[in-house]
Amino acid sequence: MLGDFKPEVAIILRSDETIKEFNLKRVTINTSFGPVHRCYIGNIYDVPVLVIYGRFNGEKVPSSQINFEQTIEAVKNSGAKKLIGTFVVGGINPEMPQGSVYVLGNMVGCGNYPIHWNQNVSFHNAEMYEPFCQTLTDQLCKASRKMDFPVKENATYVCFYGYPRIETKAELDFYNKMGWDVVGQTCDPEATCARLNQICYAGIAVQIDDPSGRADYIKGLKNKEEKSQYVEDIKSCRKRTTAIILQFLKDYKSYDCDVCSKMSRKNKNFREFPDYFYE
Ligand SMILES: [Zn+2]
Repeated sequence: MLGDFKPEVAIILRSDETIKEFNLKRVTINTSFGPVHRCYIGNIYDVPVLVIYGRFNGEKVPSSQINFEQTIEAVKNSGAKKLIGTFVVGGINPEMPQGSVYVLGNMVGCGNYPIHWNQNVSFHNAEMYEPFCQTLTDQLCKASRKMDFPVKENATYVCFYGYPRIETKAELDFYNKMGWDVVGQTCDPEATCARLNQICYAGIAVQIDDPSGRADYIKGLKNKEEKSQYVEDIKSCRKRTTAIILQFLKDYKSYDCDVCSKMSRKNKNFREFPDYFYE
């Protein structure tokens, strides 16, 4: 476990370079779902951090089988009160090229999420009117303004959870008409689980494809033309979100959040029906 190390910020980030450059140490964090082995701790600049290497525990599974609760419990058990999710997402707006980078400002949940609540744990609906922590998001925006590439702020992430697949043209047209920016499968359960645990949460995303590129590629297949790969290499995409994270940590200002830590709708007095009906 962590010993005396108290991470200030947790980051879900797949960046071998960062782990090596800052000499982060791999540790295992225990949770009620079992151990999480993909945890790395150490200081990045002057900030004690916990890096969780992605969302898959051991093996790659469809997003509906990712144990988001376990990852958030690992963050909670580490003592970190702030969490940043980094995402590789699909593009929606044909004007935005692949490789575009976003700081998330809002979220739309589309579809159903299978959930099996542990009934030994009391349940309440997460208060998600403002899904991301404002202070943490502001610090990410400030860091992203120092990048040598453009970053779109206040982006809306559509979380699609149906059978795992890439979006249809009709879906993308609809999302674009609504003015939403990027689509993925993981931000909603993650941000929601963080909120349920009163953890400040913010997200940044990089767009791996763009809709017109997908159309071009299919057209090429139909015409039997050689078309170059329309998806940018995930590694080169992730370099941009990692650069923002490193700048964010360099400039990081610690704070106590008055909002996220109090955002809860717990009803401790819940009864199935009023006591007097038991008579
Ligand atoms: Zn907060």
